Amino acid sequence: MSETEQWQFAPPPHPLVIGVPAFSDNYLWILHAADGDAAVAIDPGDAAPVQEALERNGLRLTAILLTHHHMDHAGGVEALVERWHCPVYGPRDEDIAGITHPVGDGDILDLDEPRIGFRVIGVPGHTSGHIAYYATSHGGDARGLLFCGDTLFAGGCGRIFEGTPAQMLDSLEKLAALPASTLVFCAHEYTVSNLRFAAAAEPDSEAVTRRVAEALRMRALDLPTVPSNIAIERSTNPFLRHDAAGIVATLEARQPGLAGAAPVERLAALREWKNGFR
Ligand code: ZN
Ligand code: FE
Repeated sequence: MSETEQWQFAPPPHPLVIGVPAFSDNYLWILHAADGDAAVAIDPGDAAPVQEALERNGLRLTAILLTHHHMDHAGGVEALVERWHCPVYGPRDEDIAGITHPVGDGDILDLDEPRIGFRVIGVPGHTSGHIAYYATSHGGDARGLLFCGDTLFAGGCGRIFEGTPAQMLDSLEKLAALPASTLVFCAHEYTVSNLRFAAAAEPDSEAVTRRVAEALRMRALDLPTVPSNIAIERSTNPFLRHDAAGIVATLEARQPGLAGAAPVERLAALREWKNGFR
């Protein structure tokens, strides 16, 4: 398998975004300027690997963006701020130490360095105040960028810890409505286990079958399966496909009545099934 292989279910990485592996399966993201050394960290759950990545790439941290309060996303804030004295943007509706700029749904974040504008999208469900950051493009790359924390995953979605299934459905629909080529920078490498569930939920889907095989191959090569993009998620992520015939049929067989139920009932049933799925 050559490094230049084109993956069908993993778009080419963004040249200005660095994924920093942390803990057992987190990705902490660094987005940097097309020219110059300014960089933003998104969800730096651990300061040390972010600091290492900044040094290795000759970058200077100018801002931190947080999606929600869990420590694997916010745990590195204090140490990084001590070192860089940078502003910290984060969800207005969550209590996170260190936030200097609380933001919420619909807010526009215009950063000077790196030069990029983000729209904040409220995506409650995993936590009650969870937000995502969306930019239409960055540098010479025309693809949009979505940093969505633990809401939309490659092949799955976050557990509903604080919100409701109705909130999660609404949040996922907002993200699914973004342009097809938008890169999805989620915060965990959960793709293989997510796709095993997707295959159980939609067993006749050839796309899901192929995506599972590809994700296994990528992981065997120690390659990240993230970022994904919105088109790939729409075509294979069961949580964006609760109305797809194959998934409706599977759910109906497990629990008669779900085929005629409201979408939120099917999303809740999928999420609950996944919680116990091994
Ligand atoms: Zn979380
Ligand atoms: Fe997380």
